[in-house]
Amino acid sequence: MYDETPDDTQWALETLAIRAGHQRTHEQEHGEPIFPTSSFVYGSAAEAARKFGGEEPGNIYSRFTNPTVHTFERRLAALEGGERCVATSSGMAAILSTVLALLKSGDEIVASRSLFGSTISLFDKYFGKLGITTRYVELADLAAWESAITPQTRLLFAETPSNPLSELVDIAALAEIAQRHGALLAIDNCFLTPALQTPLALGADLVIHSATKYLDGQGRAVGGAVVGRHKELEEVFGVVRTCGPCLSPFNAWIFTKGLETLSLRMRAHCASALALAEWLQAHPAVAKVHYSGLVDHPQHALAKRQQGAFGAVLGFEVKGGREAAWSVIDATRLLSITGNLGDVKSTITHPATTTHGRLSEPQKEAAGIREGLVRIAVGLEAFDDIRADLARGLDRLG
Ligand SMILES: *Cc1c(COP(=O)(O)O)cnc(C)c1O
Repeated sequence: MYDETPDDTQWALETLAIRAGHQRTHEQEHGEPIFPTSSFVYGSAAEAARKFGGEEPGNIYSRFTNPTVHTFERRLAALEGGERCVATSSGMAAILSTVLALLKSGDEIVASRSLFGSTISLFDKYFGKLGITTRYVELADLAAWESAITPQTRLLFAETPSNPLSELVDIAALAEIAQRHGALLAIDNCFLTPALQTPLALGADLVIHSATKYLDGQGRAVGGAVVGRHKELEEVFGVVRTCGPCLSPFNAWIFTKGLETLSLRMRAHCASALALAEWLQAHPAVAKVHYSGLVDHPQHALAKRQQGAFGAVLGFEVKGGREAAWSVIDATRLLSITGNLGDVKSTITHPATTTHGRLSEPQKEAAGIREGLVRIAVGLEAFDDIRADLARGLDRLG
């Protein structure tokens, strides 16, 4: 029914983001179509038998495959440089499906300590129940990663850069460690997206996305994806197809259109974040700014080498603890007070009492989540308006 026009792999990322994966139907539509259908029909019993038997490619049921979802998968696979992508109903569903597909009871995960909160709950509470145990290490400490690996370790899992302190791991070095120990390396690439970081090119085996964040970029839908080689992705596909955490065609269409502006958006997000980090660093009420784009960040050289830019999430510590941090947050009129990120709308939050509130005091101390810490996910409003919104509270303090 539709052509699978081969993608030109010579194209730059900006071009792939707009052109890759579109399967034009006989209607000759210019934009990517939506197929809101649960199932598909056949011209004959014999054709149905061939499709169900896998002898002939084609759609059967939208829990398995759907053309709109397939367009998003092909486009994201092209951007990440992966052989295949499987889309899921959320970022968490992407992580769940990956681990269910590739690990079994008795296997172990080594993960960075500074992970998204629900990822830690998934690993500890639910995979723990299945007999898959997780050890946590400091993200940047390669020796700690290596010494946490045992013969049962099957997966290394990291988020880089970290939230909210903008710490990094050297992906190429970690990939080398994973390979030496026969483990797979998965990188959660939410914070930078393929516009700024392509972990597969650095040796990672799997890339995980919450498409909810920058891939959409406008806060419209929840979804996720896993990208990698055919071998592992066929297993992930098996889980999604059987267990059902599949992406809806409507959301897949939103993400497909979101990818078209990804590079432009990320460039603009990062330019404002860097300017804001530099302005905050010079402000008398600010004790410290955590952003890998600053030249005095301990991993600035690695960030420049590994990333196309420094991302749009930054943390800063005000002098005066929780009361001072809350007063800066409460003085804003433009920024949204919420834990979300990856949106055109800038957001501000107090990690110690929101995103990281579940941690005990010693855990917060170890993770560097201090009471004076404020996190901003810099959006695409005019830079001067974002800065003025923060200055209102900061100038009163400093
Ligand atoms: C939001 C997020 C997730 C989870 O994604 P959902 O789409 O909310 O399920 C995973 N990892 C990171 C880094 C995130 O920011």
